[in-house]
Amino acid sequence: MSGKDSGICLCGPNPRFSATEQTISFLIWLLLMYMRAGLDVLDIIFARGEMADRTRAFDWSATSVGPITDWPLQLRTAVNLLLDSGFPMFIWWGKEKIQFYNDAYLKILGTDEKSKHPKALGQKGEECWQEIWPVISPLIEDVLKTGDAVFREDQFLPIYRKGVLDDVYWTFSYNPIRGEDGTPEGILVVCTETTKRNQQLKETEQQLPLLEKQKQLYDNITSGTPDLMYMFDLQYKFTYANRALLEMWGKSSEEAIGKGLRENGYEEWHAAMHEREIDQVVASKERVRGEVSFPHAVLGKRVYDYILAPVLDEVGEIVAVSGTTRDITEIRKAEAAIIESEARFRNMAEGSGILIALASETGEINYFNKAWSALTGIDTDELLGFGWCALVHPEDKDACLKLYMDSLEKRVPYTGEYRMLSKNGEYRWLLTSGSPRFEPDGSFTGYIGSSIDITERKQNEQRKNEFISMVSHELKTPLTSTISYVQVSQRKLSDNGDLTTAGMLDRAFRQLGKMKALINGFLNVSRLEAGKIYIDKKSVDLSALLKDVESNIVPEASTHTVVFAPVTETWVNIDRDKIEQVISNFISNAIKYSPPNTSIRIACESKNGFAYVSVKDDGIGINQEDQGKLFDRFYRVEGQDRKSISGFGIGLYICKEIIERHGGEIGVISVPGEGSLFWFTLPIER
Ligand code: ADP
Repeated sequence: MSGKDSGICLCGPNPRFSATEQTISFLIWLLLMYMRAGLDVLDIIFARGEMADRTRAFDWSATSVGPITDWPLQLRTAVNLLLDSGFPMFIWWGKEKIQFYNDAYLKILGTDEKSKHPKALGQKGEECWQEIWPVISPLIEDVLKTGDAVFREDQFLPIYRKGVLDDVYWTFSYNPIRGEDGTPEGILVVCTETTKRNQQLKETEQQLPLLEKQKQLYDNITSGTPDLMYMFDLQYKFTYANRALLEMWGKSSEEAIGKGLRENGYEEWHAAMHEREIDQVVASKERVRGEVSFPHAVLGKRVYDYILAPVLDEVGEIVAVSGTTRDITEIRKAEAAIIESEARFRNMAEGSGILIALASETGEINYFNKAWSALTGIDTDELLGFGWCALVHPEDKDACLKLYMDSLEKRVPYTGEYRMLSKNGEYRWLLTSGSPRFEPDGSFTGYIGSSIDITERKQNEQRKNEFISMVSHELKTPLTSTISYVQVSQRKLSDNGDLTTAGMLDRAFRQLGKMKALINGFLNVSRLEAGKIYIDKKSVDLSALLKDVESNIVPEASTHTVVFAPVTETWVNIDRDKIEQVISNFISNAIKYSPPNTSIRIACESKNGFAYVSVKDDGIGINQEDQGKLFDRFYRVEGQDRKSISGFGIGLYICKEIIERHGGEIGVISVPGEGSLFWFTLPIER
């Protein structure tokens, strides 16, 4: 300590004073020294706490600061101030920057074994802060030299803590502690560690590009949809609106965001309604869904479906309300149209005498019109699903269900006949046909089926069949005898040389042959109808069969060129006579319906596991509309060009029945005026 603090030099003789004065002065000095020696550190360092205790207990005399009792007033004051403060503080004193710090600062240093505490107390600054000394020493020197305080915010100064170099941020000020003459003798450091805050800031900064990217991504997503997407803050202000919504408003994001509903053009009732809903979302934290209709600026009156949903923060507090709105005008219009057409259909179906039913995609019937209960005497509810099957005639049931289920699987139209038990206990014949139903997107939705009662027709047919059968049968015996008589007579006349009469009998014989073929045809039909046609299958090579046909037909078909090519060996399991009958029928039709001197080509090949037999002619051909009906019973094509050609329209019907009973298919390709190609297939024998 210098004598400057008392204002009198107390340290030794001074020529300016008298000896007495000097003696008194000396005595006072002695007294003061005596008094000082009696001073306790407790009278100098008053504070309580760990650092106050340590400061009092520290052997300061071993440092350049000297014993506490010798400390200058400024240092004492500063140290007391520091120890009393709850704010982290630090002092460097003197040339060696001997250190003092308080409890708050201790917390920053930490108390683990590798901590700078407690060594830092009374330590030289340079020794304590080796790692940052090059950075802070110029600042310290500057403050000591100029007396100007230094303030730094969020300065990055890594220090050794817990044995590692820790990234630490500080906000601090270096304040000079001036001696009596105003010269800075030490530095009071008031500081606070801002590491945590800086880390958070850094993290946020690092996240910013990510957030920006995410926002762009969301913008991309939301701008690609015609749906309206938006976000409200809790004051009902828009904080986000996607492109579709901005376009609907005719506003830019800058014009619309931050504004409320009314400012963005919503009518009062509409704005108030959404505000109420936002309140509801906020209160319940649950979504609110609604439908609203209002005029769109360009599109006119539209219907919108919207959902408002809560946006929650990480602790589950509601921070915003998000919304999506979809224009469902077209959907509603389509729904209304469907309802109307459904109603129209039901009205029509209910009023109709035709039996109408609707089936689902699984085949279960989900609607029967009233005509069904009128027919069956049973409530339509009981017929639903597959309930109707119970009323189908046991003999028809399998075939009926097979046709239905096969068509359902292939989703193709079907037509069939079956008997259904009526309310009188009689079976009624129904002709039923179903059309598959498809949605606009192509998905299958089931069938619409209609049926008519054909019992009368069936009965008439049966009567006709019975009649034909009976007549044919009755005609067959006399005809067979007549043919024999004609043949015998013809032979005799030829033997007697009456060739003219024999020729006439030959013609009569041919005509009788035709008549026999017709009668056989009728008998075949009636047998077919009565289910009395039997298929007796054997393994047959079709090429061999065609050879036989060729040898029988070609001599008789002198008017045409009949070619059998290509014919390949093809083995099938068939009733030989019946298939021969089909081929003969095709060929005789080709001869009948094509002009003389044209050619007829018969072929037999194998295609995809089936034998394919065809008969092609260059004849009059068949119209498209007739082609589908040719195989129906008694169907004949009308026309001038066919007037003179005899027939009853039963040949192709029988052919079809025969081929189908062999598991094959039959058909025709024809162009009027150019010719026809009749074909059938048969499964190849494995
Ligand atoms: P039809 O005894 O009347 O010939 P089909 O059942 O054999 O009976 O034939 C049915 C109808 O098909 C015939 O009336 C005829 O109009 C037509 N038709 C059959 N084959 C041919 C063909 N090759 N060319 C043109 N029309 C044909």
